[in-house]
Amino acid sequence: MNKILITKSIIFLLVIGFGCTSSEKGPLIQGVKGSYESIPDKTWLSHEHILVDFIGADSIQPDTWDHDAIIKEVMPYFEELKEFDVDYFVDATPAYLGRDVLLLEKIADKTGINILTNTGLYGARNNQFIPQYALKMTAEDLAEMWIDEYMNGIDNTSIKPGFVKISVDNSDPLHTMHQKLVKAAAHTHLETGLTIASHTGKAQALWPQLRILKDMGVSPGAFIWVHAQAEENNENYLKAAEMGCWISLDGLGWDLENHIGKLLFAKRNGILNRILISHDAGWYDPQKENQTIKPFTNIFKKLYPALKSHGFTEDDFKLLTSVNPSKAFSIKVKNHSLDNYQD
Ligand SMILES: [Zn+2]
Repeated sequence: MNKILITKSIIFLLVIGFGCTSSEKGPLIQGVKGSYESIPDKTWLSHEHILVDFIGADSIQPDTWDHDAIIKEVMPYFEELKEFDVDYFVDATPAYLGRDVLLLEKIADKTGINILTNTGLYGARNNQFIPQYALKMTAEDLAEMWIDEYMNGIDNTSIKPGFVKISVDNSDPLHTMHQKLVKAAAHTHLETGLTIASHTGKAQALWPQLRILKDMGVSPGAFIWVHAQAEENNENYLKAAEMGCWISLDGLGWDLENHIGKLLFAKRNGILNRILISHDAGWYDPQKENQTIKPFTNIFKKLYPALKSHGFTEDDFKLLTSVNPSKAFSIKVKNHSLDNYQD
């Protein structure tokens, strides 16, 4: 009898113990294959594209894409990543521009790399990648669709987005539709904790987005300033970093020198802890006969050696490709109040 009681007590304690452990776990990262605990020692590529189709929202036909042909073409570029132990690959291609979650799932299966996909819509280039129905919807209705993708899955699958991807044309004030996208993203963040990555470019279009987030009670810590390398005045990086925004220098597939200068500036000024780096590379285009895929390896093969010669340390690299992205893509509601938000 006593034995049974003791066994029951042990089981009870074990259950309580496991309960405590799981409730103490940190925020999660959502990949196409499931969710993972956010830990700071994984290697990330925080903004890349496997497939992009520029045919436009009215003409795009995902069911015509040949998965086998695409996989055959892109696999060598993923093979190259094995050498650098890449764990997380953020696919930043939005819906109506080539988002194909079943393709991403197949590639994640084949490579063992965790791939993140997104919800949201791409407004830049004058709304040509926004479907007609979305032009007429309210921010709240758009957010409802995006939240539903997170709660129930994308395109009738159980695959969930790991972040919100939006895009705006580079102007201040923002185009009315683009203000709506930012509001919808803010609603989605408050409901789901998904981080907002916004194709922005120069800082002039960053400030109006951060103002909208502030009005809606969302912290800049929930926002990634995508394509920030386009900004010419480095002082704006200090301002954005001070506000707590993530600064994405993500054109390393295309340009090295400009990024090196900006990263040296970031280190000198103590803001490396707000910087994300990536290639914005890949780009299989189903409209093209012959593919010219951009590799995802400049960071490891070219950028790191160059920065090392300028005094960058292993800890600096770890911040840029491990610690920062693991925080930036953690799913957690970040309210606009410094008291209750810390990453
Ligand atoms: Zn991109």
